[in-house]
Amino acid sequence: ATPTALMVGTARSAKMGVLIKNGEVLQEVNNINTVVFDKTGTITVGKPRVTDIVGNPQQVLAISASLEDASEHPLASAIMQKAKDEQVSLVKSQEFEALEGKGVRAKYRGEIAFVGSDRLLADINISREMKVRANELQNEAKTVVYVGIDKEVIGLIALQDVPKSSSKKAITELKKRGLQTVMLTGDNKKVAQAIADEVGINKVIAGVMPNEKAKEIKKLQDKGKKVAFVGDGINDAPALSTADVGIAMGSGTDIAIDSGGIVLVQNDLLGVVRALSISKKTFDRIK
Ligand code: ADP
Ligand code: MG
Repeated sequence: ATPTALMVGTARSAKMGVLIKNGEVLQEVNNINTVVFDKTGTITVGKPRVTDIVGNPQQVLAISASLEDASEHPLASAIMQKAKDEQVSLVKSQEFEALEGKGVRAKYRGEIAFVGSDRLLADINISREMKVRANELQNEAKTVVYVGIDKEVIGLIALQDVPKSSSKKAITELKKRGLQTVMLTGDNKKVAQAIADEVGINKVIAGVMPNEKAKEIKKLQDKGKKVAFVGDGINDAPALSTADVGIAMGSGTDIAIDSGGIVLVQNDLLGVVRALSISKKTFDRIK
């Protein structure tokens, strides 16, 4: 395409809320055959809410919220909100640790407590009943976090995040254009699959640690795929830079926005469809 055609293409997309860094990015979009999506905040709204508490709710919330107070994770905000609604009093935790992609751990009233995924359950006691409940909740597309203290799981918190209203439509459009769609998430396989089914995503890669997201993109590229990655979080930055085209949500963290070649101002996946249409128009015309 001529420099003018490129400028027209990027200007036109900007008007539609699709900010494309430069002409090369616009060209690369035309070669994409696989679109990989982060789940939380990208496919979903990213504002999970507590739906169920297993165990003694006051105790479960007191421990979990006292720990999550120091975390910035969306699950932490949801737990803090619930504790506030239920007027649970918190204590200041000590020696707080954020365990990236797993949860949080700290001392609560002198004992080691944690809130997080099943990756934190090595040498922790959990009753058969809790395990069964966790499984049931995950099958309802709910993210389950385990709350434990002194090497024992004392409760579960189930949280639900819903897909953005436009996600399904955007995925349908992408599939119509022959693209493969993939979800890449740190969340549990069952939860991820349930949300993927809701929006029509072809393939799910779940239980991925934050530092492994870029590796998963590389694997697809090694199979000859031309990959766009769409994400919003701090931990999405390496995947955004590794992908052939990185697409960041405008609502995302600064580092995600800086790592993307495209930024979607409206935070909705229809922006990916728009980017493809404009790239196609710009580059197919000149052939
Ligand atoms: P995602 O890919 O959905 O953004 P993350 O990699 O941030 O997920 O987290 C993966 C999993 O680790 C979560 O589903 C949750 O089980 C657990 N986790 C991470 N941070 C926290 C936290 N602050 N509180 C509780 N659980 C957490
Ligand atoms: Mg996210």
